[in-house]
Amino acid sequence: MNQPMKYIIAVADGMADEPLAALGGRTPIQTARTPYMDLLARGGLVGLLRTVPPGMPPGSDVANLSLFGYPPLECYTGRAPLEAASMGIQMGPEDLAFRCNLVRLGETGGQEVMADYSGGGIATSLARQCIQALNERLADSRISLHPGVSYRHVLLWKEARRQFDGLKTTPPHDITDQPVQSFLPQGPGSDEVRQLMEQARKILASCLPPSVSAHLEGKTNSIWLWGQGPAPRMSTLVERFGIRGVTVCAVDLIKGLGRCAGLEAVEVEGATGDLDTNYRGKASAVLKALEDVDFAFLHVEAPDEASHRGDLRAKVEAIERFDAEVLATLYERLKASGTPYRMLLCPDHPTPLRTRTHSEVPVPFLLFSRPAIFAPKGLSRGPLRPVDSFDEASAASTGLFVEQGHRILEFLLQSVVS
Ligand SMILES: [Zn+2]
Repeated sequence: MNQPMKYIIAVADGMADEPLAALGGRTPIQTARTPYMDLLARGGLVGLLRTVPPGMPPGSDVANLSLFGYPPLECYTGRAPLEAASMGIQMGPEDLAFRCNLVRLGETGGQEVMADYSGGGIATSLARQCIQALNERLADSRISLHPGVSYRHVLLWKEARRQFDGLKTTPPHDITDQPVQSFLPQGPGSDEVRQLMEQARKILASCLPPSVSAHLEGKTNSIWLWGQGPAPRMSTLVERFGIRGVTVCAVDLIKGLGRCAGLEAVEVEGATGDLDTNYRGKASAVLKALEDVDFAFLHVEAPDEASHRGDLRAKVEAIERFDAEVLATLYERLKASGTPYRMLLCPDHPTPLRTRTHSEVPVPFLLFSRPAIFAPKGLSRGPLRPVDSFDEASAASTGLFVEQGHRILEFLLQSVVS
């Protein structure tokens, strides 16, 4: 009996970078040992993909929306509502969700600076106690805080859509070590949001149980609100393509996108959204899920975290582990079982170590099919230059460029849509 085709998207968040002097003019992907990426590149289609439409912010939300097959210009309403969706938070049409980071504000030269957008990578259990303490003193009929993973949480503000229309906020990971004054919320409703952040700071300074503050060691002392938006309106992948699938990831944002797309989130023990995540466990979870569904979206946050921290060694290691543990597990086990599959491998956006933040530059991507019958309509194989490795330069060298990133899902699923 013919086995049904399975589809995988494997995202190494922020993996793409720039040539670095410290690496002799090579990029972290080029430096990392990545035998499986290179193997897949030799047997697949390699090119560049624009995941961030011109004029949009290069957030993981926008970029991953493209990878899930949705045009960000039409579907994007902000990061926080996607995370809220993943946490099962019901939003009314007039409600706004904010991303609430637990951060550490420091002081440099008499100015308050964003010392750590991740609150020292605060443990989830500790973070939950902080959010609980904040809720006890800040929550009312309109405002509620909802704990997520590590430093990432959601604040829901009911019936606030009009009140905050035009409010401008800034992602804290974009202003590491910079004075926060000029990046505080601005525009309609900003006074209220600033006030709430100030109140939260006082609560974290003086109202936490001693056991909690002892463990915090000053790594977290404030909240930072940003990424606000109303609930997105998206039709599911079942409705659009007739495929059922799952997300395998640690971060709420991706789970939220998946949920909006009708995908269930699979929990993986030891998946942290950080450098020490359970790479192999994620690949195994994908394979297990594919026994039942057709499509899996696997996301690893580690290269992005390493880039935000400016940690070159950690970034190279994250890429190597992605290759040796995620890709190797998928490739070898699918080969052994003889399962036909198609896989898209790419970062969602580059996160260059030079800037320590996301970039809107197109990303290298790789489409692989086993059996190798892969010539998607609209994605001409043409006289593409063959490559023997997968990296930024090899992807640029083939001449294949997908300008509308969200179409990549159609190319991956071709056999389903046609
Ligand atoms: Zn990202």
